Amino acid sequence: MSRPEPLVDGHGRRIADVRISVTDRCNFRCQYCMPADGLPWLERDQVLSFEEIARLVGVLARIGVHDVRLTGGEPLVRRDFPRLAAMLAAIDEVRDLSLTTNGYLLERDAGALVAAGIDRFNVSVDSLQRDRFFEMTRRDALPQVLRGLEVLAGFPEAHPIKVNAVGLRGFTEDEVLPFARFAREHPYEVRFIEFMPLDADRAWDLAKVLTGEEIRAAIHAVHPLEPAPREPGATARVYHFADGRGKIGFINPVSDPFCADCDRIRLTAEGKLRTCLFSLHETDLRAPLRAGADDAELERLIRTAVWRKELKHRVNEPGFRRPARTMSQIGG
Ligand code: SF4
Repeated sequence: MSRPEPLVDGHGRRIADVRISVTDRCNFRCQYCMPADGLPWLERDQVLSFEEIARLVGVLARIGVHDVRLTGGEPLVRRDFPRLAAMLAAIDEVRDLSLTTNGYLLERDAGALVAAGIDRFNVSVDSLQRDRFFEMTRRDALPQVLRGLEVLAGFPEAHPIKVNAVGLRGFTEDEVLPFARFAREHPYEVRFIEFMPLDADRAWDLAKVLTGEEIRAAIHAVHPLEPAPREPGATARVYHFADGRGKIGFINPVSDPFCADCDRIRLTAEGKLRTCLFSLHETDLRAPLRAGADDAELERLIRTAVWRKELKHRVNEPGFRRPARTMSQIGG
C-alpha cells in the first residue's frame, strides 16, 4: 500500500509537529497568561476524550506529523493523564512524544510519565526566587516544582529536560544570571521565551518584551557563550557555555521570528485545529469526529486547513490583531 502524501502547507512547509492542549484548566495563575481568578473552564463534554485525541493523532501521524507535544493549561491536572500518554506512545508513527508542564505535579507523576513513553520534558519556571516565583505565578510552589525536577532528573530516559523561563522586562533581568548558574550546575537546558501577546489581561506591549538578545548578551558578559547549529524547524537558538558547562537557549518569537520553516500546528482542548499560534481562524474537528466522520474525511479537513496555514505571525506589524484565545486556551 502506497504511503499517503506528507502534510504540507501552501508555502511548501512540511508539517511534522502537533501541539495538543489536553485541558484549558491550570493550577497556576501566571501573570503573562491568566487572570488572578482564572478563566471560565470548558465543560467536561466539550473537551476531547482520550480516544478522540488518539484518533486525531493517528490520522495526523499517518500523514507525517510524527512529533506530538502535550500541553494545556496544565496537562497534569487532567485526570489519568499518563494513560493518554501511553495511548499516544503506542501509535506506530508517533516518533517523539513530549510534555510541557509547570512542574507542580511532577514529583507525583514523573515515574508514570516516563513509563508511559514521554521522551522529552519542558518545565516552565520563571523565577528561582521563592517570593518572585509566587509573584509571577500567584502560587507559592517553587520548592515543589524544584523537587519535581529532581525526581524527573533521576530518570535517564527523561533527558534532555528543558526549563523555560519567560522574558518579561522589569521582572526577568534579576533572574538572568541565577538561571545561567542553574543551567551550569544542573542537568537542565534553560531557555528564555519572549513574552507574547497571548495574555488574558491583554496587558502585552512590545516595551514589556525583554528580548532574547538582551538576555544572551547579559549572560555572555559573565559566562561566554558559543552558538550551536540550529535544527530545521527549531524554535530555540541554543548556545553552549564556552567552558563546556551546559547549554542555554533563547526562543525569540517577537524579536527574531522563526516562522520561515515552521512545521507546527495545534489542536485545542475542544478539538479546534489551529495552523499558527496567532491564528485568527480555526477548523473544528470535534463536530465531524462526533458526527461519525471517517479518517479520510478528517484527513481532508486537516489538509484543507493546513494548506491555508499562515506564512508567519504579524506581531511586529501595524494592525496586528491578537487571537481571541489566551495562551492557556491554545497551549504552548
Ligand atoms: S508564529 Fe505561527 S508561523 Fe510563526 S512559528 Fe509560531 S506557529 Fe509557526
